[in-house]
Amino acid sequence: MMRAALNLIGEEATLVVWLTDLLMDYQAIIEEIHGEALALKGQGRVATYIPALAAVDPARFGIAIETIDGGIFAVGDAAEKFSIQSISKVFNLALGISLVGDELWHRVGMEPSGNAFNSLVQLEVENGLPRNPFINAGALVVTDVLLDHLKRPNEEMLNFVRKLRCSEIFYNEEVAASEKATGFTNTALVNFMKSYGNIHHEVDEVLDVYCHQCSIEMTCAGLCRSFLFLANGGVVPGSGERVLTSSQTKRINAIMLTCGFYDEAGQFAYRVGMPGKSGVGGGIVAVIPGELAIAVWSPELNDRGNSVIGMHALEQFTSRTGMSIF
Ligand code: GLN
Repeated sequence: MMRAALNLIGEEATLVVWLTDLLMDYQAIIEEIHGEALALKGQGRVATYIPALAAVDPARFGIAIETIDGGIFAVGDAAEKFSIQSISKVFNLALGISLVGDELWHRVGMEPSGNAFNSLVQLEVENGLPRNPFINAGALVVTDVLLDHLKRPNEEMLNFVRKLRCSEIFYNEEVAASEKATGFTNTALVNFMKSYGNIHHEVDEVLDVYCHQCSIEMTCAGLCRSFLFLANGGVVPGSGERVLTSSQTKRINAIMLTCGFYDEAGQFAYRVGMPGKSGVGGGIVAVIPGELAIAVWSPELNDRGNSVIGMHALEQFTSRTGMSIF
């Protein structure tokens, strides 16, 4: 209410953000949510289809927030690293767009798939053109685009995330190798798209870069920091570096809202009301443009591959604060 009133007065955006931070005790809010959400433990299951992920402790639970004016809030296991998995698809897309701009959309769509993240079914009727960059097929094509333009895509990806003020970022080689050795569906997706001419590089090379991206390990706090440029029109707060144009940033946020949670994207928009992205490591990160990034990690997943407690915690956050993009 207060925030809406402030907007109506038409104050400078920075003043609004500053006052909102003053009015919202984010630390108390996430501590409360953290305490209450523990009751949902045991409702989901840790992803086991990537053998190296199966050993993760299901009881881990962290929440972090970083605001664009530098406020940092954390609770629980917010400083512990975990496998970001499909959250990396956002970095992949951002890097892809920064390299080729709108040309990217000749090779991947921007519509919700309504299907599982690793689904093959639409690809045949849609001639090897994946629905969007946040399902596996789409991210594999964007990875192929990176390979078109970068000599060392694995290194460049880490450098890109480091530009987002996340210096402590690395691949987990064991997770990357584990996924590559068992990722038969992803292998099928790449082969299938290659048969339509939508993969230019060797299947193995594309899978290697993709599996490395998925194996990146980050903390909730690091994820918030690295996503803040999406809450700040494409400029990294703190360094002031522009990574994307404001229009490109708007587009990535729009695709996160409509496609960030696969066949549960509608449910996430309805319950939470923020653009965001999940991964089967149990992480979810979401942004409120002009305000903040928030990340939750809880490895127990629902049958769509999204963190049960993560979705609940974010729903609680927008309900309790009255903040969302709507
Ligand atoms: N590495 C996972 C896969 O390709 C990523 C999926 C996810 O996080 N939803 O299957």
